[in-house]
Amino acid sequence: MEFAMVGAGAMGLRYGVLLQEAGNDVTFVDTWQPNLDKVHQQGGVYVSRDGQDRHLVPVKLVTPETYQGDPDVVIFFTKQMQLAGFLKRCAHFFNDKQYAFTCMNGMGHVEKLQQYFADDKIIAGTALIATVLNGPGDVDFMGKRGAGKMNMANLTEKPDEMTHRLFDEFKKAQMNPTLTTNFKGTLMTKVIFNSVMNTLCTLFEMQMGEYGNFDKAYDLSRQLIDEAYDVCERAGITLVSTRDEELHALDYNCRVTMPLHYPSMYQDMVHDRPTEVDYINGYIAKLGAKYHYDAKTHVFLTNLVHLSEYHRANL
Ligand code: NAD
Repeated sequence: MEFAMVGAGAMGLRYGVLLQEAGNDVTFVDTWQPNLDKVHQQGGVYVSRDGQDRHLVPVKLVTPETYQGDPDVVIFFTKQMQLAGFLKRCAHFFNDKQYAFTCMNGMGHVEKLQQYFADDKIIAGTALIATVLNGPGDVDFMGKRGAGKMNMANLTEKPDEMTHRLFDEFKKAQMNPTLTTNFKGTLMTKVIFNSVMNTLCTLFEMQMGEYGNFDKAYDLSRQLIDEAYDVCERAGITLVSTRDEELHALDYNCRVTMPLHYPSMYQDMVHDRPTEVDYINGYIAKLGAKYHYDAKTHVFLTNLVHLSEYHRANL
């Protein structure tokens, strides 16, 4: 299959390189000039796993304006606040046969994709795969080959032939996909997961394992999960796990699966980039307000993350 990978950061590179290695034709599209320059200068991207086996993988990387292909699927891996800008610059190569796919964190991206793609061409999901961009042209696919997993669902909740082809390519690329028919519930379950773990680990600059081992972690997680689940109940969203299952998943991922990982929100904070908090805790709070529910703790955490961004900007 032919893919355009919009956003050649940590996740774009991981998905793109793995799809390329599984036999697909992948062209990366990016706008960050230091990344473009470095990849062109070194003839590809350096890939490592947990700091080991660093090697150069040749990739095609272009700007939105110089992309000339007609991909079957356009995959988006930008940060939420970058997406509108990328869509505008890439619009010249979109057409009504193409599918849009993404596993971005947070919520807010789907409405933006709907401005360019028909609902029956939008497939989105969630990725439980930790990846770190060490710098321009240098990425660490954390975990062994085959580590991590992902969920995918059609916006229409009706999988078609392309959904199954895409699923097969992700499977060949060892990304462990699960196909679901609960679009909003799948995405929101991950938003809730991130609203606890990403946000708290970022605020306290700690690895997931350290949070998981804190003796009050259960109480902190419970409060945020209860509020978020109350919001989703009012909004009529059926989440894919119960409150207790979500608490268990958080604990397991923190202490067992990714104890040494700093979440992607933390990576943004320490590089003085804006975080996605408005699309995670902020989204839960906004959804709550729509249904006359005050998700106080999510509002508080959103403001705390912005306070930390503000503080860093004034250092
Ligand atoms: P990223 O920041 O690595 O890359 C996104 C874009 O930002 C790319 O265009 C990249 O070139 C650019 N970029 C990277 N560093 C930059 C810098 N210092 N200055 C300016 N531009 C820069 O983002 P990502 O980690 O690939 O995340 C993409 C989406 O996937 C997000 O919604 C994220 O929350 C989600 N996600 C990330 C992970 C992870 O482990 N990284 C896991 C699951 C989901």
